[in-house]
Amino acid sequence: MNRRSFAQSIGSAVIIPAIRGSAGLIEESAISKVGKVMAIAAHPGDGMFTMGAVLAKQIERGGAGVLLSLSLGERGAPKNIPVQQYGSMQRTATESASRLIGAETIFLDYPDAEIPFNEESSLRVCDAIRQQRPEAVVTHWSGSWHKDHQNCHLIVRDAIFYAGLETLTRERPAHAVSTIFYAENWEDATNFVPDTYIDIDSVYEKWMQACDFYPMWRGQTGFFRYNDYYSSLSVMRGCLSGSHHAVTLMSDISQRTQRLRSL
Ligand SMILES: [Zn+2]
Repeated sequence: MNRRSFAQSIGSAVIIPAIRGSAGLIEESAISKVGKVMAIAAHPGDGMFTMGAVLAKQIERGGAGVLLSLSLGERGAPKNIPVQQYGSMQRTATESASRLIGAETIFLDYPDAEIPFNEESSLRVCDAIRQQRPEAVVTHWSGSWHKDHQNCHLIVRDAIFYAGLETLTRERPAHAVSTIFYAENWEDATNFVPDTYIDIDSVYEKWMQACDFYPMWRGQTGFFRYNDYYSSLSVMRGCLSGSHHAVTLMSDISQRTQRLRSL
């Protein structure tokens, strides 16, 4: 069994070099347009650690990437740093990391641990989607112990619905997002089943450098060793998909239907 056929035999998973520009075909040669990916995270660290490599890969291929954080993740502050100051550090780290991989950044101002799921938050994210006009959105999976992550998942689903609703009048015209994916996150692991593997070899070092801007990356602000977890995870996922490093995503159930002319 050669490398590619082995990689393609992992359950029903799909291996793609990066998120395609439009829904449908999966082979790189069939990609007619390299689109924009929008990552939407509850906290900046989630965005860069679990979605940053996908953004970096898309940008490297000539596409575009934007990272939206609903909060600054300021309540993850260690005891010796005031919460507000830590929020500023998180913002600076995100701006530096995004600049390194070539992504834009958007910050909303919800307080960490109090991100609300309601019409107001869904419409704010809807407006950001209409402004950015991404082909694909990556966000949190719902199976999380963290309430902000759960709410982010729900907000994004409603925001995508609102963004594409032609009859919903907002400042900007409607925009339909082609695909939605959920990122692999140690805090969102309940019932997370990856079905899409992305080879990130070409952007791995840059992504690691980007993550290193965050004080929490090397465990400086808490117990969890983000760097060891996410770097090791990428090696493990690479083993399963025929590359040195890979990240996985879980596609929304609505886009798992295959439309074939024959088997
Ligand atoms: Zn988080």
